[in-house]
Amino acid sequence: MRQSYDAVVIGTGFGGAVAACRLAQAGLAVGILERGRRYPMNSFPRDFDNPLNGWLWSVGQGLFDVRPLNQMMIVQGAGYGGGSLIYANVHLRAPADVFASGWPAGYSRAALDPYYDLVAWMLDIKPITESRHLGVPPKTAAMQAAARKLGRGGQFVYPTIAVDFGEPEKIHPNRFGIEQKGCNYCGECDIGCNLLAKNTLDLNYLALAERHGAETRLQCEATRIAPSSTGYNISFIDHAAGDSEDNIQAKFLFLCGGAINSTELLLRCRDQHRTLPNLSRRLGDNYSANGDFLAFAFDTAEKLDPSRGPTITTGIVYDRGAGAERNWFIFEEGGYPKQIAGMLQILNPGGGAFGAIATMTQSELIGALRVAAGRSASATADGANSAVFLAMGRDRANGKITLAPVVNTLFVEWNVASNLPLYDAEAGLGGDIAMALGGKLALNPFWERLRQPVSVHNLGGCVMADSAERGVVNGGGEAFGYPNLFVMDGAILPGATGVNPSHTIAAVAERNIELAIRKITGNRSWRAPEAASAAPVIDPLAQVTIPVGGTMEPKTRIIGLSFTETMKGFIDKGHNPADDFLGAEKAGQAANTLIDFTLTINFPDLDAAIADPRHPGVASGVIHAAGFTGPTGAPVNNGVFNLFVDSHAPNERRMLYALPFIGADGKPYLLDGFKDVRDHGNFDVWGATSTLYTSIRDGHERTGAVVASGVMHILMPDFMRQLTTFTVSGTNDPAAKAAAIARFGRLFMGTLWDVFVKPRLP
Ligand SMILES: Cc1cc2nc3c(=O)[nH]c(=O)nc-3n(C[C@H](O)[C@H](O)[C@H](O)COP(=O)(O)OP(=O)(O)OC[C@H]3O[C@@H](n4cnc5c(N)ncnc54)[C@H](O)[C@@H]3O)c2cc1C
Ligand code: SF4
Repeated sequence: MRQSYDAVVIGTGFGGAVAACRLAQAGLAVGILERGRRYPMNSFPRDFDNPLNGWLWSVGQGLFDVRPLNQMMIVQGAGYGGGSLIYANVHLRAPADVFASGWPAGYSRAALDPYYDLVAWMLDIKPITESRHLGVPPKTAAMQAAARKLGRGGQFVYPTIAVDFGEPEKIHPNRFGIEQKGCNYCGECDIGCNLLAKNTLDLNYLALAERHGAETRLQCEATRIAPSSTGYNISFIDHAAGDSEDNIQAKFLFLCGGAINSTELLLRCRDQHRTLPNLSRRLGDNYSANGDFLAFAFDTAEKLDPSRGPTITTGIVYDRGAGAERNWFIFEEGGYPKQIAGMLQILNPGGGAFGAIATMTQSELIGALRVAAGRSASATADGANSAVFLAMGRDRANGKITLAPVVNTLFVEWNVASNLPLYDAEAGLGGDIAMALGGKLALNPFWERLRQPVSVHNLGGCVMADSAERGVVNGGGEAFGYPNLFVMDGAILPGATGVNPSHTIAAVAERNIELAIRKITGNRSWRAPEAASAAPVIDPLAQVTIPVGGTMEPKTRIIGLSFTETMKGFIDKGHNPADDFLGAEKAGQAANTLIDFTLTINFPDLDAAIADPRHPGVASGVIHAAGFTGPTGAPVNNGVFNLFVDSHAPNERRMLYALPFIGADGKPYLLDGFKDVRDHGNFDVWGATSTLYTSIRDGHERTGAVVASGVMHILMPDFMRQLTTFTVSGTNDPAAKAAAIARFGRLFMGTLWDVFVKPRLP
């Protein structure tokens, strides 16, 4: 292996594979750094009893990198081929109007189409209807029937997918001479195809790169980039060599670690290591989750057999509203391996396995899911009457990827409220489709409980723009202020693609690597050798018809309700005993150690929250706690609020607050509070509902040690303000809004009646 290359490519996903292939074909000496492993035929993890055996990147460089990053749950691939190893193979072009705003000069759908054609040829994409040997899977037919039943047949599509439909399980070479087997419909695409029937990047672009001399270092994770006299010095950790540190030199550097990782590496280089201090201030901005929305349907009337066929085979386009009010998304069915069918049943609302988690914080929920999954991994349910739904659409791309000061922890800030109309429409259509299939909808638990979306389609963070004031790289992917440092993955897309984004990431990479190679080699007519073979491809979305006025609104309405609450009080650090709340309050008053928070309490699905005996809501806002937070306070995200929870005694309820935050010392803390809603003998309804017995714990779980305690109160002026903050989401109809507030009021007043009045009645 060399120590110095013309070009180094970090990461082997869609951007990295295209870059490495074309640079090597153009005759450059190319070095590839990939943090994950190579997965030849029959090598993907299949130990369903042990989540630590090859599955997780964080444990021995496994396949999946799952990161709960504050306001977003991130899932991404790690391995030689990046996300292609675990993706659902869907390749769709972003509609033309996506490029109309936010993209730098030179971009349009027409300009990108030849590069889309090239990617389509390289990955040999086609719809499921071209599968001659095994026909159309039952779930595909069921989704088409559901679309027709809902009057949405005109928006139904068979997306093009990168799957080989040769004779099932028969080995044969692909068009680059690499051996693969034909798809056998096993439904395992998202856990790695052991037949190599998926046209993953290691079977085409990366194979060509190596054939043209590219040298690959696997399990090597880039940790730092610094300018050097000849270009850039890249430090990396070699996990295969006992985590030893090493470095290589590159004249030209192509960073392709994916939207989250590329942005993280550059943030660390700018703000932590300070090796690239002049990177644009816009680094981290315009993060998009591509409108991802995950849901499930259970107990469907028909057998969908979701474990038969490639993971995604259908889509239904939704397009309604105009301008800022427009909601555009595509709703796709998902399959899953039959081995996890039993495990997925824990999400079935009829199954009851989730009852207890209504009071859990994010880290408690992750723990509970692990335990429940372990228990049910061997369950025998065949899951034939269930479905996975994945919608994705044009969100506002208004997220931000940041490094927390002091501790340098990565965060994703995501504004759920401004993207809510899109999520509501996606959930609503999910409800309609579940109903059309004769089943019932179950939302992803992180969304339902914590309003935390899951994204597998992360974009942005190092976006392209025409100036450093608006973006991090120029329209060719070259970083402003750092010549010859290119970013060439999902991080540079300036907004959501709406559709599954890999096709666009790869097409943009084909465009930009062509520009880069022309500049580097001086050959102004250089083209990818395969460009001549690529023929124009029919875009499945071109066949969709959108009625005048837009597609119809979903019949399923998910009505949410929120209000803002402010509480203030005093705490005492290290008070002994910790549950002497009143004593701690007094000590806090004497020392003037104030605490306050202002929270928005949200019931994303009001009717579900009313029906749940723990009435769970999501709390977010800001907390100030003397001795814990700085003067500007600390944000609270994904906090848990339970309106009334039965306690052990009759005629007594508790209101629970679990508010995770990061202290000024960079450590995680939890405000763990309860209101003791009972009649203390003096009919003090106000006192009982406005007094919060407060503990601050180490860590984000309720098992953490108490480090401070005290009492907080709602003050009357704050309460009067609170009454004006009630907001209803999911409908614009004033009568429906009033009815939602009335339903909430009935729950609130009814409980107080039960606690305070009923026991006094003769
Ligand atoms: C379950 C699942 C299903 C999906 N289905 C689809 C689908 O059907 N269609 C679609 O379009 N998209 C799908 N996606 C999304 C798709 O995988 C991503 O959008 C795409 O892979 C992003 O491409 P990329 O080049 O930006 O980065 P990635 O493909 O994420 O590649 C980044 C690579 O860089 C490596 N890397 C990261 N950091 C470092 C480092 N510091 N040093 C060395 N190497 C590093 C990673 O291991 C990885 O191999 C899916 C994703 C998931 C998780
Ligand atoms: S269904 Fe997916 S995992 Fe199974 S053989 Fe086909 S492509 Fe591979």
